[in-house]
Amino acid sequence: MNPLGIHAAVWVGGWSPEQTRHALAKSAETGYDLIELTANDPAAIDTDLVRDLLRQHGLRAAASLGLTFDADVNNEDPEVVRRGLVTLHGALDLVHAVGGEHLVGALHTTLGKYPAPATARARANSVAAIRELSERAAELGVRIGVEVVNRYETNLFNTVAGALDFLDEVGHPNALVHLDTYHANIEEGDFERPVRLAADRLGYVHVGESHRGYLGSGTVDWPRFYRALVDAGYTGPITFESFSSAVVDPNLSNTLAVWRDLWDDGDALARHAHRHVQDGLRSARA
Ligand code: MN
Repeated sequence: MNPLGIHAAVWVGGWSPEQTRHALAKSAETGYDLIELTANDPAAIDTDLVRDLLRQHGLRAAASLGLTFDADVNNEDPEVVRRGLVTLHGALDLVHAVGGEHLVGALHTTLGKYPAPATARARANSVAAIRELSERAAELGVRIGVEVVNRYETNLFNTVAGALDFLDEVGHPNALVHLDTYHANIEEGDFERPVRLAADRLGYVHVGESHRGYLGSGTVDWPRFYRALVDAGYTGPITFESFSSAVVDPNLSNTLAVWRDLWDDGDALARHAHRHVQDGLRSARA
């Protein structure tokens, strides 16, 4: 059975002790097995507190981030790449410190609109960085997932096919595909082929609706996607990701262009999404 996860942005926009307690308690209360932490600023997170709360609530953890233009491994400048690696290793340390199993997201790139295609040298730097990160993560028992994000959020690759080419260059078994339905809706031809292509190299899944609101209220072909996951024998995490201006993370909200209220009640949203994924998988297995 897949662990069902929920992104912390459904609950909180920061990591004060109160926000941390709220996010973990609500994730468990609404039935989830895993919480995805935002790892852009690991220093903001009290890892001892998170570790204790995870144990208390019986939750697992993953962490995600997107790099930024001033600290980006997808860059020609060695100094910018070095800062990107500092960010990645800081996030890996965070996952390890809380006992998490997955570090995912835009680890290979800035999460943002590039003004031009990736250069060969920038790509080689990103490949080398993900290889280095994957090696160290393997020693710590953490899996790496490079998220396939849309063209406005990276210039490196925007499809699973592109991610697999990139991972072939990385050449490390601990580096896997992180597939997100929100991005797939923009870039892929359908919701089955990318899952089939990734096959056993699929390491992490984000379920997000085409407008990042309530699952089932947009244009994602859920029955086909859930069926593809079941047919592929995917057993990794399936994490619900949704953003609304009701919850503001000062970094993330602007990066992801969260300008409107798609919901204001995270509790109702989370319960609905949990049911949606459970029912979808059950139907697909039947
Ligand atoms: Mn995502």
